[in-house]
Amino acid sequence: MKRLSIKKDSFAQAAIDELGWWRAHKFLFLRRTSQLSVFTLFAIGPWFGLWFLKGNLSSSELLGMIPLSDPLVSLQVLMTGHVPELSLLLGALIITLFYVIAGGRVFCSWVCPVNVITDCASWLRRQFNLPRTSEMPKNLRYYLLVMVLGLPLLTGITVWEWVNPVPLFYRAMLFGVGSGLWTLLAIFLLDLFISERAWCSHLCPTGALFALIGKLSPVKVSAVNAKNCDNCMDCFTVCPERQVLKPALKGKQMMITDSDCTQCGRCIDVCAQRVFQYQNRIALKAENKK
Ligand code: SF4
Ligand code: SF4
Repeated sequence: MKRLSIKKDSFAQAAIDELGWWRAHKFLFLRRTSQLSVFTLFAIGPWFGLWFLKGNLSSSELLGMIPLSDPLVSLQVLMTGHVPELSLLLGALIITLFYVIAGGRVFCSWVCPVNVITDCASWLRRQFNLPRTSEMPKNLRYYLLVMVLGLPLLTGITVWEWVNPVPLFYRAMLFGVGSGLWTLLAIFLLDLFISERAWCSHLCPTGALFALIGKLSPVKVSAVNAKNCDNCMDCFTVCPERQVLKPALKGKQMMITDSDCTQCGRCIDVCAQRVFQYQNRIALKAENKK
């Protein structure tokens, strides 16, 4: 039997040598801090009685006043034929507006806890040099999104919320409801052994809806120094949605406008040639008109 060998995670080595460890991991560190901070803000309520954010990622209240809710939950409730509570609708509107501006899949890379699990599977894949398996169709998540919204129409129940791994993670961690941990383990094993980035890049309907919400966001990653690219492929190795990189690097369009980009900033981190940057396309357009 062929033994698995641990491969040095060397894809970012050129960036570490060139820019130093911190600059080669900056956005990874900031993202983990953001994910942990959001979780902590929810956790200090049930754990220590400090109710800054009450609830979970599906529906919550900020400082006891401002409702925040997952737009996918509100849409599912609407599809059951029930009119959701005003606070749920208002909360969904606030969250939607935030991600229209910040970029929809910013939720995936900067907030969602499942992203930590899928990034971990991806990292292990690199370490053990696991073979790449066949790609799943990219549009699958959009078909699943239609199904998630269609099921309440047929059944009158928000079926997806029973198994949605995003709130399941929070329920398991905050309230010790352990049943959802099997779903999270299944996602980890799926990503690790069956298909690379299977869950977040191909299946998750929450990510699909946030990609649609963020289509017009002004914040984008841009290959500002594409001419400096030395084809080392480090950004392709680390990018969870590598199909979005090609048009920018091949000079078809400098800005990564594809809303599948999670704006994780890892391509910025690992590029020794400093090809990528965050940019504001509206500010840029205004500047170019001057
Ligand atoms: S795709 Fe889904 S599970 Fe993955 S990070 Fe985004 S919301 Fe979370
Ligand atoms: S293009 Fe860059 S910012 Fe976008 S998902 Fe890929 S690595 Fe992350």
